Order: sequence, then C-alpha cells, then structure tokens
Amino acid sequence: MKEWYVRRSGGDAGPFTESRLRKLLSEGMIEPGTRVRRGGDGEWQAVASVISIGARKKKADDADEDDSSDADDVNRRRIVLAAAGCAISAIVVVGLLLMPGREDKPADEKNAPAVAQPATLKPLMPEVPSRRPTSAIASSSPKPAPVSEPLEPSRSAPAVRTDRETTKPAAMAAPLAQLVTRPPVAELPAQPAPAADDDKPKEIKDTDLTRMFERLNLELTPEGGQRFLADLRKKYALTDKQEARLAAEEPRWNERKEKGLVRLGNRWVKPDVQNAAADKAKRLVSQATPLLRIGGFKEAINFLQEASDADGNSIEADFKLGLLGSTEWALLDAVNAEKHFKEVLRRSPDNVPALNNLAVAELKQRKHSQAIKHLSLAAALAPRCQEVSQNLGRSLFLDGQNRINLNADDERACAVVYSTLIAEGKGKEADVSKGFLLMNILLPKSERENPGSDPDRGQDLILTGSGSGFAVAPNLVLTNRHVAEHDVLGTADEIRIAVSIKGQPVRRLKGMVVALSDEADLALVKFDALDARPLPLREAEGRLGEEVAIVGFPRPDALGDDLKFVRGSINSVRPDELLFDCIANQGNSGGPVLLAGGEVVSVYTFVKTVGDEVETKHGGGVPSTLARRFVQKHAPVLPAAADQAGRDWPTMIEDVRDAIFKIEVYHSAGSPALQAAFARVAASKKNARFLEDRTCVSCGGRSVLPCPGKCIKGGVQRTWTEQQPGVIFGRSVMVPKVMTRVDPCTACAGRGGVDCPLCIQGVDKALIFR
Ligand SMILES: [Zn+2]
Ligand SMILES: [Zn+2]
Repeated sequence: MKEWYVRRSGGDAGPFTESRLRKLLSEGMIEPGTRVRRGGDGEWQAVASVISIGARKKKADDADEDDSSDADDVNRRRIVLAAAGCAISAIVVVGLLLMPGREDKPADEKNAPAVAQPATLKPLMPEVPSRRPTSAIASSSPKPAPVSEPLEPSRSAPAVRTDRETTKPAAMAAPLAQLVTRPPVAELPAQPAPAADDDKPKEIKDTDLTRMFERLNLELTPEGGQRFLADLRKKYALTDKQEARLAAEEPRWNERKEKGLVRLGNRWVKPDVQNAAADKAKRLVSQATPLLRIGGFKEAINFLQEASDADGNSIEADFKLGLLGSTEWALLDAVNAEKHFKEVLRRSPDNVPALNNLAVAELKQRKHSQAIKHLSLAAALAPRCQEVSQNLGRSLFLDGQNRINLNADDERACAVVYSTLIAEGKGKEADVSKGFLLMNILLPKSERENPGSDPDRGQDLILTGSGSGFAVAPNLVLTNRHVAEHDVLGTADEIRIAVSIKGQPVRRLKGMVVALSDEADLALVKFDALDARPLPLREAEGRLGEEVAIVGFPRPDALGDDLKFVRGSINSVRPDELLFDCIANQGNSGGPVLLAGGEVVSVYTFVKTVGDEVETKHGGGVPSTLARRFVQKHAPVLPAAADQAGRDWPTMIEDVRDAIFKIEVYHSAGSPALQAAFARVAASKKNARFLEDRTCVSCGGRSVLPCPGKCIKGGVQRTWTEQQPGVIFGRSVMVPKVMTRVDPCTACAGRGGVDCPLCIQGVDKALIFR
C-alpha cells in the first residue's frame, strides 16, 4: 500500500509503498537514517527501523508465537533497534554502503565483480594475510570469486579444478581501488553515483595499484596475467611512473607464456606438474575425509597438511584443517583454525566462507576488531549470506550483554553493517538461540539451506585406503583382509583395480569382496570383468634362506602408481607367518612375495616392529600354505606351478606383472556404518550441530575465568615489617626486617581462576538449554 512519506529538505515526498522504500534505500536515494512516516500524520522514524521491524511483525503475526518466545523476541528486537540507532548516528558511513542499482539487475549481480559494491568498507579492509613479502610472485589464488546470491560456498570458494577453468580477467574487479577513491559522502550527488564501470579511465593511487599487483600475482596462467595488465591500462589513466611499473611487469608474463608455464603456489611450472600436484592433493584429501568422520583427527590432519603442501593453488585442505579446529565435535583449536583460514585467504582473498570462519576463530580468541573487519568484508562480498548476518548479530547481542567488549569503532562498524543487511532485506535477523555459524566449503547450496539434512552427508564412494593384490583365479584377486575391511567402516563397498596389459588401454574394474578369512589376514575380491592369468600359490612351506621378492604398490601417494620391487630372503618360518629380512612400505599389503621361479610363497602383510616404533627391518606375511586353504574353498582349481627356475628376476617379474594389481578401497559416504560412526562422534557432544559454534565467548571455551581477586596464580603475597634482634657496631639493637608470605587467594581458593558461570565445559549454557 502506498502510505509512506519521506522527509526531504525541499518538502516531503510520497506516498510510496514499503517495497519502494526498500528500493530507494538499496539504490542509495535515501539512507537508513532518513526519516519516513506512515500516512500524513504518522510519527517520523528512521527508515531502517521501519523496514526491518515491519518485516518482523508480519512474520510474528503469521506464526502466532506463544508467550515463551517473548524474551527472545525482545532480545532480537533490541538488537535491531540498537543497530538501527547506531546506523542513524553513523549516517556518514552508511551512505556509502548503499550502492546503486543492484536490486534492479539481479542478472548483473551474478557476474558482477565481487567487490564492486561495498564502498564503505575502506576502513574495514581486511588484512589479506600474507606469509611472504608482497614482492614477486608470492601469493597464490585466483581472482575474486564472483558474488553469487545467496552465496554458494562450493562455487565462490574455488577448488583446484574450478580455479583452473576460470578465464574471466581479474582486473575487471578493480575492487580495492574503487573503494578507496570514492569521494566522501558529502560530495556525492543527489542522484546515485554513476555506474562503477564507466568507460572513462580513472586515476589510481599508487597504494591501490600495489594492491592490484598482489591480485595480479594470484593469476594462474600467463594469459590471465596479460589480460589483467591490459585491463589495468584500459581502466585507469596511469601516471608515467605507474605505466613504468606496469611495463616492468610485462616481460615476466611474456616469458612465462613463451615457456608455457602455469602457476603452482608461488612457483611457475609446466602444466603437467600442476596437474600432478592437484591430483596428489585431491587423493590426500579424499584419504582424510573418511578419517574425519570417524574421529581419526590426528591421521586426517597429516593427510590434509600434506595435501596443502602438495598443491599451493588449492584451498580445500586448509579449509578443512580450519574447520577441524573450529568445530566442537572435532578439536577446539582456534589458533590453528585462524592459521589455516588465513592460508585459505592468502590463496583466495575473497573467499567468504573462510572470512566468516576466520572471524569466528578470532572472536573465540577475543580478537574482536579483526573479527568484525573480516565479517564486514564477508558481508560486503556476499550480503545474502545468512551465516555472516547471524555472526554479526550475535556479536552485537553478546556485546550488549557484556559477554564480549567491542570498542566503540568496532561496535559502530558491526551495527552499521548488520543493520544495513537487515534493512536491505538481504541479511536475516540473528537468532540468539544459536551460536556462531561456520560455513562449509563443499556444501551445495540446497543442503546448506536445509537445516534438517546432515550437511556432511554424501552419496559418493570415498577412497578409504589402498593396497596390493594378485590374481589367484581368472576373476579372483587375493589381498589382505585388513586392506578389504576397515576397522570402523567394515567391509569395503567397492574395490577397484586398474588393469594395464601391455599393448592394451588401461581398464578400471570394479569388484566386490566375496570372502574374508577368519584364520589369516586374507580376503578374496571378485571382478566379473577380469580375465587374468593367475599366479601359483606354492604348496610346500617356505624354507629358511630362500630368496624372495616383494612386489606391490607401496605409498602410491608418494612413490607413484607403478609396480615396485624389493628383494630379500626368508629368515623365519612359522606355521602361520613367514618373516623376510626386508621391508616393504604401507600399500604393499596384500601383494605377492615371489620366488624366482614365479611361485607365490607368501602374501605380504606386515612390517615387524618391536615395541611401538623400533623397526627391525623385517617384514612378514601369510604363508602360501594357509592362503591355498582359504582360496580353495572358493576356487577349487588352482593353477599349477610351472617350473621356471633359472630365470633372472626381471624376466620373472615381466612374466607375472599383469596378474598383480594396485587395489583401491572405497566406502560409500552414505553407508550405514559411516553414518553410525559419524553419529557416535556427534552424540558424544550433545546438541551439537555440525556447523554451529557454541563456544562460550566469555572464557573462550576454556571454562575458566580469571580470578576476580588480585592473585597471581592463586597466591596473594602479604608483606609486613617486623623488628628483630640484631647487632650493629657491637651493640644489640632491634632491626626492622621485611617479611613476606604467600597466602592462597580467598576469591578463587588458590586455583588462580574461577569456573566460568556461563558455560558448561566451554559450551555456552544459553545454547545448551534452548
Ligand atoms: Zn565460559
Ligand atoms: Zn584468586
């Protein structure tokens, strides 16, 4: 209904509908503090409060909420009001936040350069974290992620592949420069500012040009860099000195193009090196994923760290490491979370999920200013991101309760950004019954917006391990039981092998586990499409001193996918185990231990250790006699041994290699076992939600507050003076002596701190009993 009037210096304007008000606000025609009134005689009030409260009222009417929620309501409304109040007092800043015309062009918004709109954020610029000097080719990462609305993490947080596919020149974003060069609000014309992508070249400050060069160095290809430089020239009227800087950049990019190099982290390499790094990192990350779900955090961290080191372009591993340090079901380690999210941002400066999660890690460490800066930047990049508005609103709420103490500037910045998001209808009012919200990197939008679903669910098969195996019948492959069966996840849902016969293309086959031995560490896998020439299992026991070769696929992540060979001899024979005086690495498990004649004498199974760690350089395996017994139950006819003694090792290996396979073990991400394992972890933290951070901000999750008394580590020092007998120049006199004693502090009973009253074991009470 057209019922709103806007106060203007030259007379009131109107009537307007509420949606028209919203539009005016979003277009910058009016400001959040602009006075409006309903009808000709309503009360004048700030448009920001009118719009957000109006929206809230409607909701409340619909829902017909009961009385018990009133307290929440009041709290929530108080935030909005407080925020709106601040907005009025900070109009100067707000005016800049509202950029023209975005609502009108949703299509544009999708493609718009990420940072094009947030003019105000100049004072809130992020420190894009950098570990290295800004010189040279330092940092990595693609250009600013396009703003999708609402933000969809999987797209805006480019992973390895998408990075590589992007072709849009980063220079188009020209974001930082515009932020800084925009005139102060007083000089803004009454009409919305001219479109940002004006054809006319603008001037650019040296410092902004330097920032652009930092972005330039994140280009993945020489072509990208050349486009970036060309765009800079087109967009800006450069001074001679600036032009010289550009010209100095050019040869470097031309040279890279001539050599056909692409960027990998801070190096320029051949494309196949970049591909190999990406593949390696992907493999390592996929090995970590199932471990994360079953609580194997320590092992997962190793995989992820290795992945991060392997591929300096990818942000996936660091993002997961950051989440790992952020979530209460995993490890609460805000320091590490901060470190890894900063690494993500070094590689991809406009990554909103990383900005958001970094801010949460900072809030937990009471680094409030930085947290507000990062949330503000996230809000500017992705104004419709609900997690960001929740975290801004919750910060204000906690500040209002004196649970955290924002300084005046941060408080104002936080209120302005939050209230503007609400006023523009982009952000959602914070729900104070919820904690800080983290964002996931890999979640598709649909799942993220559906709170009922388990965000970590997936239908895909996940690589959970690898080993070796060999054919014992044309379509049966023998391997270790511990390869085919996971401690927690159970039997593999699928086993895959790659069959590469000389002169034929590589075929990848899928198989199923058909038998697990109770007697020995053995499993049989059936591949319907396999037709291999099986290896003979020797009937006679192994003999001390016989020469053997262990063949298989150890550590494919580090050593590559090809077959490996180690030679030694049998140095211990027992009915259920053979030992060899050589070891093969993890991944050799299930591979054959061969005699020179080509017979299998054992299935390689373990590395012998003494105590916990001392390696004796002995490996061991299941004797072929046991293996025969197991296999014969399922394949009655076993191949006979052809007597081919006298061949040399290379000839023998050449002869048998087509029957030896690298085995990849897959578990279904949605398998009941995996779900159950995850549920166990989740249940151990009651009420925990996967991406909600319920850490108590008063104590930073330590559940201890500093002692209110003035003690040092629980002790209070008392000092007094006593007169004691002494001798001076041969005469007995009373001498004053300073005495000290440390008493236990009464305020904390000598503990040095007091229990935090607001949480239980670091989890905010208000969020437990909701
Ligand atoms: Zn606490
Ligand atoms: Zn004390």
